[in-house]
Amino acid sequence: MNPPTLTRRKFVGQLSITAAALAFARRGIAADTAPSTTTAAGRKLGVALVGLGSYATGQLVPALLQTQNCHVAGVVTGSPEKGKKWASDYGFSEKSVYGYDTMARMADNPEIDIVYVVTPNALHSEHVIAAAQAGKHVISEKPFTATVAQAEAAMAACAKAKVRLSIGYRLHFDPYHQTLIKMAKDPAVGGFKKGSGNFSFTMGRKVWRAEKALAGGGPIMDLGVYLIQGACMAAGGVAPIAVTAHEGPKTRPDMFTDVEETMIFQLEFPNGLIFDGSTSYQQNGNEIRAESAGGKEFIHIRPAFGYDGLRGETQAGPLSFKLPVKQQALQMDDFAACVRANLPSRVPGEMGLRDMKIIEAIYAAASSGKRVEIKA
Ligand code: NAD
Repeated sequence: MNPPTLTRRKFVGQLSITAAALAFARRGIAADTAPSTTTAAGRKLGVALVGLGSYATGQLVPALLQTQNCHVAGVVTGSPEKGKKWASDYGFSEKSVYGYDTMARMADNPEIDIVYVVTPNALHSEHVIAAAQAGKHVISEKPFTATVAQAEAAMAACAKAKVRLSIGYRLHFDPYHQTLIKMAKDPAVGGFKKGSGNFSFTMGRKVWRAEKALAGGGPIMDLGVYLIQGACMAAGGVAPIAVTAHEGPKTRPDMFTDVEETMIFQLEFPNGLIFDGSTSYQQNGNEIRAESAGGKEFIHIRPAFGYDGLRGETQAGPLSFKLPVKQQALQMDDFAACVRANLPSRVPGEMGLRDMKIIEAIYAAASSGKRVEIKA
């Protein structure tokens, strides 16, 4: 079977139609959050990256260079020297280099429309709040924050400033996951009833991801978010009603002192879907599967969560897509289109908050050993 390669124009066209349709459907609830920033259609929107670590450098900048509606317009960094080099490399003014404590000054910078927060998880909320208070639209990397309370505070700041908020859920722009979303809503499938997934890698040395103060938790905060996202996609875009969970054994207690090394959980959805997830920093895994009652219809994506090289199959045979640009380029272009059209993102703060509630319920279930209901 030949891979259904998508041209960029066709794929972006499909995305924007879907985005507009979804956004219009949400318009009623979002009408009071009209952004205060005026952004003229036709002009590329300036994106400032907050935190110049591996994801910003290795993925987001290359993706920004592939976007049609965005450009690199500034940075927030602890290193002014690094900031100057970025200004020279990407052609923006050194005035658009900020420190974490000078983000408020962005309010006077018309070159920056969108602030993309790419710092450790527990810092996202303070950086989202600072960006919103400077009047900028915001993308926060996943997980949205480290706690539900932080997510609510970040959302409140964006609502108050009337700026748009989106989460860096790049897989909503990936055609394999879009197939999962589509099949979940296909009457011929009748709703997925069983699902499972594993996203894990072996952590070589202790980094901030294994420190509660910066990460908020262990692999469930980092890799587990992809499983939660995939499970909600498989359920037709709705949240689970309950969860059970337990931590796996700590084989390296010296490394995982205050976060889990492995988390195993089960999500129950309103349509009867049961999703079993496993995430760990002590093994490798990268797949998701969903199937109908009886298993006749199914989708299995493996590897499922990478930046490229995904593979998958359904009951109809192998899936093989090749994106013309990076997932993150589509993600940022879509957000820029939402900002311009004054419409909510398809991956809004509300979705990030939903996932934080699920994560907190997973921790509550793991520590109590009991089934925990999740309140919307
Ligand atoms: P990283 O450690 O490589 O980069 C973190 C950046 O934050 C660095 O530039 C660091 O200097 C800066 N920083 C600011 N204050 C800091 C502090 N107090 N302590 C430590 N660093 C501080 O991490 P990363 O892999 O780039 O991840 C950053 C964020 O991006 C995380 O939230 C992560 O979950 C997310 N991420 C998302 C994806 C994705 O596919 N969507 C992939 C990787 C990372």
